[in-house]
Amino acid sequence: MKLAVIEGDGVGKEVIPAALEVLDAFELDVEKVPLELGYDRWERTGTAITDDDIDILKECDCVIFGAVTTPPDPNYKSVLLTIRKELDMYANVRPIRPLPSVKGIHDRTDFNYIIVRENTEGLYSGIEEIGEDVSTTKRVITRKGSKRIADYASKLAGSRTNKLTIVHKSNVMKSDKLFLDVCRQSATDAGVTHSDELVDSFAYNLIRNPWNYDVIVTTNLFGDILSDMSGALVGGLGLLPSANIGEKYAFFEPVHGSAPDIAGRNIANPLATVLSLKMLLEWHGDIAEAAILEEAIDSSLNLGICTPDLGGKSSTSEVGEFLANHIKTRV
Ligand code: ATP
Ligand code: MG
Repeated sequence: MKLAVIEGDGVGKEVIPAALEVLDAFELDVEKVPLELGYDRWERTGTAITDDDIDILKECDCVIFGAVTTPPDPNYKSVLLTIRKELDMYANVRPIRPLPSVKGIHDRTDFNYIIVRENTEGLYSGIEEIGEDVSTTKRVITRKGSKRIADYASKLAGSRTNKLTIVHKSNVMKSDKLFLDVCRQSATDAGVTHSDELVDSFAYNLIRNPWNYDVIVTTNLFGDILSDMSGALVGGLGLLPSANIGEKYAFFEPVHGSAPDIAGRNIANPLATVLSLKMLLEWHGDIAEAAILEEAIDSSLNLGICTPDLGGKSSTSEVGEFLANHIKTRV
């Protein structure tokens, strides 16, 4: 496998090395292609990402990515938006499930749902007009964009409990009527049981009763917000992995950002990135390795080897080292 490695900015520079130590422990046939992208590079060179970088990414099978800082500078081209668009990774897949010995907001731990977020359009279309008194962002919903995310989510639901929840706001935004109609049709065609909820009441229901849900499909911005919110259910943003999937490429990254408030201190939780690595292994068909990795994570948490956000005393690199050593005893 040819793996592009992007540390990015902030805690990305800490969690990616920890995840790579874990990957190396498996001694798989992986060719790593390091790429420097993001805000630090922009400050140094004036570009955050170029067409050449995209070409390099396209030659790789998949990407592991830390985080990048996106400054509110109108001249700054968002690295993540550029990559998602150029590699056309339309599905952002975010599994949410409790981990052993980690306290979330509920005592019940019998939930396990996946947010499937449309990744290329919606309010993150990037089509904006910035004015002195009026600024607008165009919310783009297309039939094609909705159908491929709906089909992805329906298929995923079919491989799980066959239950799909469509989250939207079509009563206020007519653009969501198209999204809702296409999702309903896709689920019906796939023989998947489906229901839909308005995003505001859904947010309330999800926090109160997460065990009622399995696969959730929604548009770009709603998916972004709902997945950060889901971090609270499982004990923190430092625990949420994600995959960006397209027809040809896959890109794995923690849900959290560059966390400038804690960057440079070797205290960021590497588990969101390590769990993203686990999704990468599964995507690549390394199922046995993914299972060993999960066992290593469970073992670290049960032993209290974790970063301060989870109440532990271990550093980012110590968690990576523990996981790597555990894996070496199993492979
Ligand atoms: P960005 O603009 O890059 O998204 P942000 O300021 O929104 O940066 P996030 O990375 O989204 O920061 O983090 C939000 C909060 O969660 C911060 O307080 C951060 O310290 C915390 N956090 C994020 N990632 C981790 C992590 N891996 N381990 C521990 N805490 C984290
Ligand atoms: Mg953030």
